[in-house]
Order: sequence, then C-alpha cells, then structure tokens
Amino acid sequence: MSPDDLKTLVRTVPDFPAPGILFRDVTTLIGHGAGFAACIGHLAERTAAAGAEALAGMEARGFIFGAGAAARAGLGFLPVRKPGKLPVPTIGVDYALEYGQDRLEIDPTAVLAGQRIAIVDDLIATGGTALAAADLLRQAGAVVTHAFFVIDLPDLGGADRLRAAGLTVDALMQFP
Ligand code: 5GP
Repeated sequence: MSPDDLKTLVRTVPDFPAPGILFRDVTTLIGHGAGFAACIGHLAERTAAAGAEALAGMEARGFIFGAGAAARAGLGFLPVRKPGKLPVPTIGVDYALEYGQDRLEIDPTAVLAGQRIAIVDDLIATGGTALAAADLLRQAGAVVTHAFFVIDLPDLGGADRLRAAGLTVDALMQFP
C-alpha cells in the first residue's frame, strides 16, 4: 500500500485530548494488517537508505513503528523512555510542552560512540519531542541526521525546527 492509501487508515478524532484539537489516531492504521506491514516497510526502506545503524523510538507510539522498522531493517532498537522507567542509570532531557514540561531518558550505554542513530515516531507536531530525543542521543555520542515519522503536521512547524537543528525529516504523510 502506498503512503496515500495508508493515510485513509488514520482516524481523526475531534476534541482530543482537549477541545478544538483534531487528534490523528494511528490505532486504526496499526490494526490493519496489510496497512501496518506496508507502513513498517516504508519506514524500514527509508532507514536503510539513510545509512542508519540503529533506530530510536519515543515512548509510546514511537516504540510500535520504531521497533517494527528496526526489525525489518535488521537493526537494533533503542527505546527513548518517559522518566523513571529504565532499571539502569540514565541521562535525561527536560522539554517544554504546550502546557508544562516533560522529560525523556535513555540508557547512555546503549549508544556506541559515533553510531548513526535515526529517530522514529508516529507523528511530529511542534517538534519538541523529537528535538529532545535528538539532543539526548547526541549527548550520549550518537550521530543523529535523520528523523522519520508516519505523520507530519506541517502547520505546527516541527519539521522546520528539526531541519534547523541539522536533521533530515521524512514523513509518510501530512495532515491536513
Ligand atoms: P510534538 O512534540 O512534535 O509537539 O508532539 C509529537 C508527540 O506528541 C509525538 O510523540 C506524538 O505521539 C504525540 N502527538 C501529538 N499530537 C498527536 C496526534 O494528533 N496524534 C498522535 N498519534 N500523536 C500525537
């Protein structure tokens, strides 16, 4: 299935998580066997073309697509976790949300010096989450040049922010 076909499998839910927000729900996409397989295939192809040596995905939906694409490409997967989840010493980055703050953590020993690690998440909006992940991976010694998303919301400017931070951004589809 082409990325255009996959777009029809994404469900749009109005007023979630707050009034006025159109939430792009990927549970309908991952629940469709052929669609999910095609989505993973597209991400794995782009990962291989970028020369990535491992994929990192953000908790939680980035785990679904990142782990699938890493396995398909024959690469390891590095989970970028919410705080307090990893059982080993971590490094973390705090980042701003629209309302409040959040934090991402990784196990720095999971990164080899100079390792080319690409980022995968389900969706990029303002780019804050992906920028925090790139910062963290770079702090641990990774070379981060590519970020892959199933969905880009270009009106929110995240992809442009990532490009300004030296990343190549590639999404399977854009909304609206
Ligand atoms: P950002 O940090 O780019 O503003 O927001 C992206 C993060 O929020 C991603 O981890 C993504 O999972 C989540 N997110 C924000 N809006 C949506 C949405 O409409 N649909 C989905 N599936 N995730 C969203």
